[in-house]
Amino acid sequence: MTENNATARPENLPERIQHYIDGAFVDSQNGATFDVIDPVTNQTYIQAAAGQKEDVEAAVAAAKKAFEEGPWPKMLARERSRVLNKIADIVESREQVLAEMESYDSGLPIKQALGQARRAAENFRFFADLIVAQIDDAYKVPGRQANYVNRKPIGVAGLITPWNTPFMLESWKLAPAIATGNTVVLKPAEFTPLSASLWAGIFEEAGLPQGVFNLVNGFGEDAGDALVKHPDVPLISFTGESRTGQIIFGNSAPFLKGLSMELGGKSPAVVFDDADLETAIDATIFGVFSLNGERCTAGSRILVQRGIYDEFVERYAAQAQRVKVGLPSDPTTEVGALVHPEHFDKVMSYVEIGKSEGRLVAGGGRPEGFPEGNFVQPTVFVDVAPDARIFQEEIFGPVVAITPFDTEEEALELANNTKYGLAAYIWTNDLKRAHNFAQNVEAGMVWLNSNNVRDLRTPFGGVKASGLGHEGGYRSIDFYTDQQAVHINL
Ligand code: NAD
Repeated sequence: MTENNATARPENLPERIQHYIDGAFVDSQNGATFDVIDPVTNQTYIQAAAGQKEDVEAAVAAAKKAFEEGPWPKMLARERSRVLNKIADIVESREQVLAEMESYDSGLPIKQALGQARRAAENFRFFADLIVAQIDDAYKVPGRQANYVNRKPIGVAGLITPWNTPFMLESWKLAPAIATGNTVVLKPAEFTPLSASLWAGIFEEAGLPQGVFNLVNGFGEDAGDALVKHPDVPLISFTGESRTGQIIFGNSAPFLKGLSMELGGKSPAVVFDDADLETAIDATIFGVFSLNGERCTAGSRILVQRGIYDEFVERYAAQAQRVKVGLPSDPTTEVGALVHPEHFDKVMSYVEIGKSEGRLVAGGGRPEGFPEGNFVQPTVFVDVAPDARIFQEEIFGPVVAITPFDTEEEALELANNTKYGLAAYIWTNDLKRAHNFAQNVEAGMVWLNSNNVRDLRTPFGGVKASGLGHEGGYRSIDFYTDQQAVHINL
């Protein structure tokens, strides 16, 4: 296996992964580094700089200087938009290399990593368009007063991101933050720092001024914590676990920081007995097993109406067994290797818990032929009770819990019976029921008879323990800007 993965090792890997501060690649001031492993062999393939408080201070100082001394915050939206479009062009032109690096570092199937690289480019293109089309409010009281909104960038934005689809999720924050004229310090996830190290070169080539983008690698408790507690960082945009979100929320409180929180999920997919079964099965298979199941919006609880339950379970289990687990670098692979042995252990512990909480109908362990590395079979538990841990807790791997229901009311109760509220998927041909259910389910995003496909203009975010605030379209612009009201007497 180790040998197999040697062929996947991307060419032109950097010698080591460094921070990028004020336009220069640098090591940690105290020289600290940490091991980065590849999830197929779990062997260290590179060292990354482990950022400490002093490194974060240097990065924030550079970002603050770039914000105060400009030119970036004061540039015309059209000029900033040009730079963003160039960034998108460069990302597109390097999509293959980016996908190879992402797949090698994170264990994501290469084909899916390529899709994520394209999404990253699209995110920049989207916000490039949005800022030039920005309209701000004006209100007139005839003969008395005129009022208008003066929208301004806020300052240094701290961006803290997770290890699932890392490059794409970084772009989802970087693009609106810099499009609106802020400067940034990015702290990427410690499991997957490789692709983030490419941003610096891309931004330099696109002409982003020095100091606008800064990157500090390292652990959440050190680099992440220092960024959250830095008084010169008024905004924190965070994506990660709900528990981490709570800690960041608490640590930001003394500074009254602006917070955007995209957190965990345990999203239901509800299949009524009038649904188009084949489409629903295909979509719910994709919904939980794509991206290795390491997807915040995974439909990891499937609720199925009793009339079709047995047929659904049988067909679903058979299809799950056909999902191809393989090396991340193989273009035919559908489920690759989980990101890290710690995460693998967590997912495997839920697989064991599931064996006493439900009936196992597919998977349940390591796939054959993969004695090492973080490979998990697509695993399906059925007849799972709503109080089971595998029904309630986010597993974040290729593991799904299926539960029957009788009535629409019961389905809604089951769907809402969790602390999370990120996404919901509903499968029915009854239009009235579809809309009523969508409007009553406690989820920030609902897909009706649809896979998880996004329109970038729509709000993205969760309710309950799944998040605070929204990203997407103008909501991102609102988060990264102040809207000052200016009143004029006439
Ligand atoms: P995590 O919370 O462990 O880490 C996320 C980031 O926070 C990392 O960069 C980490 O270093 C940093 N961090 C950790 N502790 C910190 C602290 N005390 N202060 C500051 N920063 C700290 O999450 P993860 O395991 O990397 O990611 C998986 C989680 O992310 C899942 O729960 C998943 O659902 C969630 N997620 C949510 C969305 C969404 O949009 N809602 C998208 C992707 C992932």
